[in-house]
Amino acid sequence: MRKKFIAGNWKMYTTAAAAKALAEGVAKGVTGNAVTVAVCPPYPWLGLVADAVKGSGVAVGGQNCHHAAEGAYTGEVSPQMLLDAGCQYVIVGHSERRHGLGEPDRFLNLKAKAATAAGLKVIFCVGELLAEREAGLTEDVIWFQVAAGLNGLSADAVSKLVIAYEPVWAIGTGKVASPAQAQEVHAFIRKGFARQYGDAAAGALAILYGGSVKPDNAAEILRQPDVDGALVGGASLKVDSFLGIVRAAV
Ligand code: PEP
Repeated sequence: MRKKFIAGNWKMYTTAAAAKALAEGVAKGVTGNAVTVAVCPPYPWLGLVADAVKGSGVAVGGQNCHHAAEGAYTGEVSPQMLLDAGCQYVIVGHSERRHGLGEPDRFLNLKAKAATAAGLKVIFCVGELLAEREAGLTEDVIWFQVAAGLNGLSADAVSKLVIAYEPVWAIGTGKVASPAQAQEVHAFIRKGFARQYGDAAAGALAILYGGSVKPDNAAEILRQPDVDGALVGGASLKVDSFLGIVRAAV
């Protein structure tokens, strides 16, 4: 049985005060350890959010990282810096970075390698554009992103990461993939992992769905056999809606 995992991606939202209140509210509301829960605030709030959730069942993640350990990379943050700030997780390859900021697959591959080597658990995002889905290219696009992104990672490194399937057309649009559409792609990813890394690794892999997940649609998506949780954007910015999704995962 894979444990469900709900991660909140706060993107470039929240003030310091709002981040603290949100983190405290989530920490207070997460009781027990039936579900793995993480929040991914903006970089400047990582320390204060890590303090706010300390001792609770809530983990902290970064929304991105650079692949270098250190160097002249203005505006970037290394995996070790995230660890030092209290992170256990890092999101790599979010569509807002792939498509919005043009981060190429080979760059995401370097990040995934560096972050796992440093000891972070990577939430590696993949997802097709609407035009790609309509052209019947969903599986080709997804597998290319997985294969290119994880190329060269050891089986041990792969066993520590999480995949997030986030159809780009469903992110922040209110258009959620149907449970059947999500299940189809998740099963495809798991089958590919079985081919590449073996049945045990594929069986242990957590595959999250992301794209307009809300408390009222979460339960049906999370009931799908290959959906192991959710990466939540908009609905993670309010304590009640995020906790509603966490409760739907129990
Ligand atoms: C996301 O940013 O990863 C996401 C899924 O956003 P939303 O839930 O707002 O669609």
